[in-house]
Amino acid sequence: MATDGELWRVWYDAAQRSGVAERLRGLLDEIDAQVDKSGFACQQSGRCCKFESFGHRLYMTGLEVAWFRSLVGGPKGSGAGVSGSDDKTIGLPVIDPKGDGCPYQVDGGCGVHGDRPFACRVFFCQEGSEDWQVQRYEMFQAEIKRLHEELGLPYRYMEWRAGLAGAAGAGL
Ligand code: SF4
Repeated sequence: MATDGELWRVWYDAAQRSGVAERLRGLLDEIDAQVDKSGFACQQSGRCCKFESFGHRLYMTGLEVAWFRSLVGGPKGSGAGVSGSDDKTIGLPVIDPKGDGCPYQVDGGCGVHGDRPFACRVFFCQEGSEDWQVQRYEMFQAEIKRLHEELGLPYRYMEWRAGLAGAAGAGL
């Protein structure tokens, strides 16, 4: 049975394989296009990124967290840099388990906007968007599961900050 560190390395390496990053980016682009068509709009209040006070959590797979880390940080000591694809250069966040929100929130805004996970893109606090969100989330999860099966990857679903802490613990 793989250790946690080995699992994170498996996901990280898979995200670097030819075609995998493109598939993941394609899913993000697809949800952005669907949001544009939906008529829902994020007011960018930053409230939903303060998880405790807002009262919700983000969940995603280890593969998504590992891919995200490859975009914004790269393994420690790899010299992979700390800039996102179209984000300003950012430092590695301090994961504070007692913190009130996402470690990537900067001055009330998202510090990794171009690389933020699917779960951030599909969430709206706008009334009436709930069913739309659930449908898109289920479609996305089905695609992510299919990708895991195709690549023969272990599937793990986790809370965002716990995932970031796990990845950091594995040196990602
Ligand atoms: S990644 Fe960005 S949008 Fe997502 S919770 Fe963190 S600050 Fe908010």
